[in-house]
Amino acid sequence: MKQVPLTGFSSVCAHAGHTQDPLYAHLTPIYASSTYVYDSAEQGMRRFSGQEDGFIYSRWDSPNFREVEEKVAALECFGLSDANGAPLRAKAKLHASGMGALSTLFLTHLKAGDKVISHYSLYGGTEELFRKILPQLGIEAVITDMQDLEKTASIIESDPSIRMMYLETPANPTLRCVDLEALIGLAKRFNLVSAVDNTFATPYLQQPFSFGADYVFHSTTKFLNGHGTAIGGILIGRDEERMRGAVEKTHRLLGANSNPFDAFLLTQGIKTLELRMERHCHNAMEVAGFLDGHAAVGRVNYLGLTSHPDFEIAARQMKHPGAMMSFELKGGLEAGKRFIDRLQMCLRAVSLGTTETLICHPASMTHYGVPKELRETYGITDGLIRMSVGIETVNDILNDLDQALS
Ligand code: PLP
Repeated sequence: MKQVPLTGFSSVCAHAGHTQDPLYAHLTPIYASSTYVYDSAEQGMRRFSGQEDGFIYSRWDSPNFREVEEKVAALECFGLSDANGAPLRAKAKLHASGMGALSTLFLTHLKAGDKVISHYSLYGGTEELFRKILPQLGIEAVITDMQDLEKTASIIESDPSIRMMYLETPANPTLRCVDLEALIGLAKRFNLVSAVDNTFATPYLQQPFSFGADYVFHSTTKFLNGHGTAIGGILIGRDEERMRGAVEKTHRLLGANSNPFDAFLLTQGIKTLELRMERHCHNAMEVAGFLDGHAAVGRVNYLGLTSHPDFEIAARQMKHPGAMMSFELKGGLEAGKRFIDRLQMCLRAVSLGTTETLICHPASMTHYGVPKELRETYGITDGLIRMSVGIETVNDILNDLDQALS
């Protein structure tokens, strides 16, 4: 961190975590080195015992990981204070993917017999981890409607094996939101560890630490990287001792480490986070208004429209409503496929949060193999289109949508 206080979010994006390169390179070079050398056995011992700061082995740490970990931790804590009024501090651990970071989170805190409580409409990979992998280890996920606070409280109260609360808001792909202040308050009341997937919002739009969350998590593959150049995940914890201890141990031993090149790309991507998010959100609002008034389009799910059921929660806890939306084509499956085929500038792809607008048709792509009745219970109907609005000139996005819809 620079000595001069960084007072603006974009300054933190650009400078936090950077240390002067010994050879005066402007950017931290990519440290493509699996191991680090010592001057002496004595120095090796000091490094291993933690008496001396330094690098040992790239599965554990590297200058490229450290830079981006400090940057993301500073962004998630930006402008926040701890219980004593001092600037809030947190520690982050970079992983090879979002799923890798989630594995560290759950395996650090949960053991056989423990349960994690969460809500409907999670990212599909997280839901599968809950349904297929954690049960093999004797860990159970209790999934409920967390919009219903009373019901959530009574489930937690009646089951002392629930140890963790896991929230994703806005959630992928439905954009449903849950009330961070109320739910994290509940987690504290019952002594649960609380963790929030902040991938869709980024720290620019929403800071779960401001509501007291213990952990914040990101698939950095999305808006943080911003350019679709690398897969990654990061886990940020406000208990720095636990991050240095149990979390770091799980991270090292699971082997879900990132690599210096991906970390370098992520560092550069984050530098423009505020600029990109402002533009993403501005474009998304225009696109949502356009789609909302279009004759071929039925329902538009966008958190900036008052018709979204979670408009009020989002307005309370997010700076802007984000850049993700989904909408229903009146003509069903055939209309969905035709629309997707006609796109000329917007890209047909899954993933999200890149500079380019990405559009996917879940019924013919990501959920092609899921029986119709089942996917419809998740809200994924035949004509549903999911869109990650990019930062292109908005008229070009609108023109492309218009010609594809006509
Ligand atoms: N959480 C959310 C909200 C996601 O959208 C994704 C991926 O799409 C993940 C977690 C998993 O991240 P990754 O694909 O980087 O492993």
